[in-house]
Amino acid sequence: MFENLAEKLEGVFKRLKGRGRLDEENIKEALKEIRMALLEADVNFKVVKDFIEEVRSRAVGQEVLESITPGQQIVKIVHDRLVELLGGTSSQLRFGSRFPAPIMLVGLQGCGKTTTAVKLAKVLAKGGKRAGLVSADVYRPAAMEQLRVMAQKIGAPAFNADSSQDPVKICVQAVEEAKRNGYEVLILDTAGRLAIDTQMMEELKQIKNAVNPSEILFVADAMTGQDAVNVAAKFNELLGIDGVIMTKMDGDARGGAALSLKAVMGKPIKYVGIGEKIDALEVFHPERMASRILGMGDILSLVEKAQTVVDEKQARELEQRIRKNEFTLEDFKTQLLQIKKMGSLQDIIGMIPGLNKLKSLKQATPDEKELVRIVAIIDSMTKKERLNYQLIDGQRRKRIALGSGTTVQDVNRLLKNYADVKKMMKRMTSKGGIKALRRGNF
Ligand code: GDP
Repeated sequence: MFENLAEKLEGVFKRLKGRGRLDEENIKEALKEIRMALLEADVNFKVVKDFIEEVRSRAVGQEVLESITPGQQIVKIVHDRLVELLGGTSSQLRFGSRFPAPIMLVGLQGCGKTTTAVKLAKVLAKGGKRAGLVSADVYRPAAMEQLRVMAQKIGAPAFNADSSQDPVKICVQAVEEAKRNGYEVLILDTAGRLAIDTQMMEELKQIKNAVNPSEILFVADAMTGQDAVNVAAKFNELLGIDGVIMTKMDGDARGGAALSLKAVMGKPIKYVGIGEKIDALEVFHPERMASRILGMGDILSLVEKAQTVVDEKQARELEQRIRKNEFTLEDFKTQLLQIKKMGSLQDIIGMIPGLNKLKSLKQATPDEKELVRIVAIIDSMTKKERLNYQLIDGQRRKRIALGSGTTVQDVNRLLKNYADVKKMMKRMTSKGGIKALRRGNF
């Protein structure tokens, strides 16, 4: 997400940093390039114009011309302005004091509404809120079924609705049932059409009036670019919405919709969908997103992700073993699986400052398929072999390859990678290596 924009802006800033001093001419040049980068990212024309104006006036106001590190100051100004553009601070969902709090999802067909409804139920459940789900899309019985099946997968309660019923009635009854069952939230997945039509809007208004939702969230498909912004604005005008969930941010969308929404419509993005999997929904943090766009990495999101998958006790034990140079193949496997649980390696690398610039590293990290292969290889070893890889001679390599359905070359490659990591860890733990790493000198 935002990769092209990030790359372009990085180029602009690099050129600025190379200058000892800035003059009006090269600020103008930089602003021109930033403007182009934003337009290419499909950001709304007027939003870009205002953005550039604002950065220009702040840059001049702060006497960037006299500054010692002018490039950095410009980065800071652009960063702050981007944060504002993205909505300032992250916006929480409002639940109110009713049980259940109805959350209504609206949007066009195919924007990812049903998937998002289930993802949201999962996010809320993680935060300790039990959320029920119901589909009011009586026009597409398959969509109702899709919601039920997906909800079942994550163990979220989905109410059975009958497609011959009236959508408003379905929602009202689901609220009653959720109340009886003590659910704190009820997520209403409504019908979408290919384009806005009066009948659809009328139905949504009736549902809104009948259940009085705590939140009406417009689900926007980032891949549709400026259209997503226009449709969102129309929904806001006709129905009134509280916020947006931007889906498919993992795609090759240029991201301009996310950057334009708040400025054009005044409503915040509350969550972003970053993949087809059920756990690919994140709270939207303007600050972190701006940092990611400017290539400063997104350490906070990374830490949060890590916290959800890494068991602290396990981590401490591992640290002890690494210090004693006892990092085994079993530990290697655990680490790789933990990384896998955190999402795609590409995403993770994109969040780490500095690393996101290393294209070669991106290419070198194993893909999901390779991870599966690595795990199969390690699982085909005996316990003794996992504890002491030096035991694994040619004969054993052949046996392991056969057992894991891989080749001896695959086994050799894995052992070499492991040996390299082990060596690196040894270097890190000796001679104050960890301190060097913390200082960022490693
Ligand atoms: P609906 O018609 O609005 O209910 O849309 P669906 O929930 O059926 O989603 C349409 C398609 O978009 C499905 O193939 C989903 O897997 C996909 N989708 C939804 N959200 C995301 C996302 O954040 N990233 C990606 N890559 N695909 C998504």
